[in-house]
Amino acid sequence: MSITPLMPVYPRCDFRPVRGDHCHLIGEDGRRYLDFAAGIAVNILGHSHAGLIGAIQRQAATLMHVSNLYGSPQGERLAQRLVDLTFADTVFFTNSGAEAVECAIKTARAYHSHAGNDHKFELITFNNAFHGRTMGTISASSQEKMHHGFLPLLPGFKYVDFDDLAAARAAIGPNTAGFLVEPVQGEGGIRPASDEFMAGLRQLADEHDLLVVLDEVQTGVCRTGTFYAYEQYGVTPDVVATAKGLGGGFPLGACLATEKAARGMVAGTHGSTYGGNPLAMAAGEAVLDAVANEAFLEHVRLTGERLRARLEQFIGNYPALFELVRGRGLMLGVKMKVEPRAFVAHLRDNHQVLTVSSGDNTLRIVPPLVIDEAHIDEFMERLSAAADSYKAEAAA
Ligand SMILES: *Cc1c(COP(=O)(O)O)cnc(C)c1O
Repeated sequence: MSITPLMPVYPRCDFRPVRGDHCHLIGEDGRRYLDFAAGIAVNILGHSHAGLIGAIQRQAATLMHVSNLYGSPQGERLAQRLVDLTFADTVFFTNSGAEAVECAIKTARAYHSHAGNDHKFELITFNNAFHGRTMGTISASSQEKMHHGFLPLLPGFKYVDFDDLAAARAAIGPNTAGFLVEPVQGEGGIRPASDEFMAGLRQLADEHDLLVVLDEVQTGVCRTGTFYAYEQYGVTPDVVATAKGLGGGFPLGACLATEKAARGMVAGTHGSTYGGNPLAMAAGEAVLDAVANEAFLEHVRLTGERLRARLEQFIGNYPALFELVRGRGLMLGVKMKVEPRAFVAHLRDNHQVLTVSSGDNTLRIVPPLVIDEAHIDEFMERLSAAADSYKAEAAA
């Protein structure tokens, strides 16, 4: 047998983390790495946050899982907090981002079906989007590399260019249910939508009775400097999918919706065995205890501005390697003039810094949101050393 026990769907690198220490990871060989990847924008409190660990330990010892057939004081508490903090009136808890998007897709379809409009099932989505790896969420993405081998796709998605309002308008037809969009494309290359685009989608939706469904799985929970990114656009969504940072490393997602948008999601229409279990709820509450306040958001905005300014200054010294810096808050991307994967590996293997590559040749920088000035100094020092040695390596 040559297949590995772990199904070989990930091209895993040689780094094998076994322990976390705040904003660093320690490998099997004992080496320390500065973690500016944070499990791909997940570990927003770093790796050893006492509040999060304590909450999980206490809840694990009290009650880990019960069925959603029973009342849930834990779920009601976290849902109420999310309702109070956002546009939403109601929340469905999931175990992952893709499941949150799946619930959002079903919510949009059910919204129209509930009014007798079963033909309005199509979501307009955007080129280079990423929404997850289930059949529904790969169908929502235009990226053919994720479709290969898995056809046929789920019908009901129409792809148009991101940030192109005219294309979105032209795509509206008798079957349109709404728009599904990331306010800042993550996997697509840390590309923020323009204010005009987001406001335009809202206006089109209002004119045609469509839903604005946001995929904030990566942008949510303070990552971009506001609790959710939609707040910066001055646009109120109908449905939002959230996950990644929400559990701070514990698997937790949610589909947030207004009462109107959720009108079709009545008893018996949707479910999840694990979704909203007391352990995940405890993790979510501990995360909100730490991040859902103006001081924390101010820290993310300030730290994001500082890191961004340092990156802008830095790339000027390496015009052959780097093109521009973009993003919001602590969701930053450096567009490179070369394929970024080799540089990400160089940074990791030779300078012990973790980042992630993303689309459009972009080096993705999504650190824990609790980084301070010293982490930024350490990052910039190692990044500069990596750029120097990369140039030398490329010239050699
Ligand atoms: C990561 C991500 C997802 C998928 O989340 P999973 O937890 O991996 O299922 C969906 N949408 C966006 C924007 C993401 O970044």
